[in-house]
Amino acid sequence: MRTALVGLESHPMTERVIRVAIAAPLHRVFDYRLSTWEAAVGCRVRVPFGRTRAIGVILAVDVRSDLPTDRLRSVEQVLDRVPLLGIDDLAFLQWVADYYRHPVGEVVAGALPLRLRKGAAVTPLGEAVWALTPAGAEQVEAHLSRAPRQMELLAWLAGQPGQMATPTQLRDALGDVARTLRAVRAKDWVEARESAAVVDPLPVVQSATVLNPQQAAVIEQLGTCRAGFSVALLDGVTGSGKTEVYLRLAASVLAQGRSVLVLVPEISLTPQLLGRFSERLGSTVRVLHSGLNEREREQTWHRLARGLSRVLLGTRSAIFAPIADLGLVVVDEEHDPSFKQTEGLRYSARDLAVVRARRAGCPVILGSATPALESLRNVESGRYRHMRLEQRAGAAASPRIDLLDIRDQPLHAGLSEPLLDSVAAALAREEQVILFLNRRGYAPVLSCFSCGWLSDCPRCDARQTLHRGSGLLWCHHCGTRRRVPRSCPACGATGLQPLGQGTERLEVFLAERFAGVPLIRVDRDATARRGALERQLARLQVARSALLVGTQMLAKGHHFPRVTLVGVVDADGGLYSADFRGTERMAQLLVQVAGRAGRGDLPGRVLIQTRFPEHPLLNTLVRQGYPAFAAAALRERRAACLPPYSHQALVRAEAVRAEHAEEFLERLAAWAGAEAQAGVELWGPVPAPMTRRAGRHRVHLLMQATCREALHALLHGLPEHVAGLRGARRVRWSLDVDPVDLY
Ligand code: ADP
Ligand code: ZN
Ligand code: ZN
Repeated sequence: MRTALVGLESHPMTERVIRVAIAAPLHRVFDYRLSTWEAAVGCRVRVPFGRTRAIGVILAVDVRSDLPTDRLRSVEQVLDRVPLLGIDDLAFLQWVADYYRHPVGEVVAGALPLRLRKGAAVTPLGEAVWALTPAGAEQVEAHLSRAPRQMELLAWLAGQPGQMATPTQLRDALGDVARTLRAVRAKDWVEARESAAVVDPLPVVQSATVLNPQQAAVIEQLGTCRAGFSVALLDGVTGSGKTEVYLRLAASVLAQGRSVLVLVPEISLTPQLLGRFSERLGSTVRVLHSGLNEREREQTWHRLARGLSRVLLGTRSAIFAPIADLGLVVVDEEHDPSFKQTEGLRYSARDLAVVRARRAGCPVILGSATPALESLRNVESGRYRHMRLEQRAGAAASPRIDLLDIRDQPLHAGLSEPLLDSVAAALAREEQVILFLNRRGYAPVLSCFSCGWLSDCPRCDARQTLHRGSGLLWCHHCGTRRRVPRSCPACGATGLQPLGQGTERLEVFLAERFAGVPLIRVDRDATARRGALERQLARLQVARSALLVGTQMLAKGHHFPRVTLVGVVDADGGLYSADFRGTERMAQLLVQVAGRAGRGDLPGRVLIQTRFPEHPLLNTLVRQGYPAFAAAALRERRAACLPPYSHQALVRAEAVRAEHAEEFLERLAAWAGAEAQAGVELWGPVPAPMTRRAGRHRVHLLMQATCREALHALLHGLPEHVAGLRGARRVRWSLDVDPVDLY
């Protein structure tokens, strides 16, 4: 429930001082004078700010300011009577601002729906309805009117609960009634009204599924710690029944009158997942994701904050939604990189889920078939409880995985002959095949064989990808595009050649090679329109043999019972990546993709093409599975003193001129070197792996320490120090605490 209103009884003419968070890139809060107005913590105010005005959120009332009261400016207007954020919500947001060294005003503003951030009035939570008036009810009783359409409308309304209906309900029942409605309104038989906000009903049906012993054990163990905060890593292969566990626990939390937050990766918030939650938990399940319009988002936000709805299913930013009586937090596919925000406030929703659960005194479950090495390290150190689900819930066995050495193989659009033979055999058995290639477009580069010209991006140290369907050369890093040239821009020769493979090229090749077999491509280009992916996948349910080509969008959330073969076209990208997390990512992706094979009653097979068949970690993964891989990878990290055995923060700086960014970071490094406690290491400034991007030169300074406190002591003063650095205005810079990639 919302916090009680503080100071609602106004104190006319007494002056109070309030502390306000304002969305500005400044690491401080602001004090204002408040006279006559009533105000409480969590309400918005409009205040003078510099030469303009700003919207802020009250963090505290009756504070003692460092400035004398007569030097403070006055609040212009208090915008809310009821606080939008509770004291606990604000304390959490302040914690976030402090941990990530981000301006608190921006963090608080970022937690509000967009319209409210801009100062708009809160949208009433009830719905707009048409309601029968007493005069209208008389008409129905007396059958006075001779207009049949009007009588039909009035009689229908009279039969509705509360004698009212939303415009949509009205249209669904009676068709287009706009004209009739105008007529009855003119006679005051029907009026516009606002229905009260209703509490969603809670589920009453219990699940009929009988839990397997491992699921039952997990639920029992978590049941015993339901009283307070605990973290459980739920480690179970795809299809082992993790979602079933979430649903059970959620139902029992709802029964206690508390709420549930479920965070899922961007790609997996599918209608299927929502359907599964709604089916079991009912209309109290609400979603928050970037596809909703502002009004829908705001409604959902308020409903959760007031406890009208009790389950929030959302992608990473849902971690900031105020939720009444939080009783359980679930992070599904906790290893997924999309839980990390990579610009602005660079937070990890997974890490914050743990913080939030601790503040709320409730359990948090991190679920994955391929847990992040960070989470496994927390298990090792005893902070998280490890729970395993080892069997697939259905009958399906785990797929067999083999490496295909392609060093001396002729390739056709990137596919070796052994792989093509296996594809042909599976299709002949009327089974379905997935070919996985994590690169969209037709080819990663276009080249001229006469002079060696390559389709370099003019603004980045990268190539522009050839998209043949749209006839464009397109940089995936900065978005720059141009039309495909007919002849070489350097020497004028014709016959420019694509090099390498993208999903588009694979699709073209397969369409020719396996003509007549239904072929579906799943990547960001092919599924840009909403619903396109769902429609495509629906085709698969009815098809017998079929081919799916796709990027990592294919790896998650979907169930393809007839897929028996998964071919991984290129596993090598991750093996020798510039980022030390490259192998971990690659392993997680391979296991996820492999999990798509053999989920029905047909056994599955996975073939991984590689030029490094002896790579030790790849072999450990294929022969012994993810847990063995993770153990080996953790040993490597420990030996190299890399996260999770140390903590990092990365300052990125970019400028049009390289030396501006370099000098800036050199000054920062000099300061940090003098300021840092023992045990904090500084690496850099060094050029970023992609040195130029979108026309700017990029330089990095990495800070690392085995002791988190030592690192954070240094970070504490960093933003303030940067603000005073010479040349700071010429660069764009950012601080990334616990970065998940070093690009
Ligand atoms: P995960 O989330 O680990 O991928 P799910 O919870 O989606 O696994 O379970 C996979 C499939 O098995 C689903 O169709 C689910 O309904 C079913 N299932 C889960 N638990 C059981 C059970 N105890 N008995 C029978 N079927 C189950
Ligand atoms: Zn040329
Ligand atoms: Zn570019």
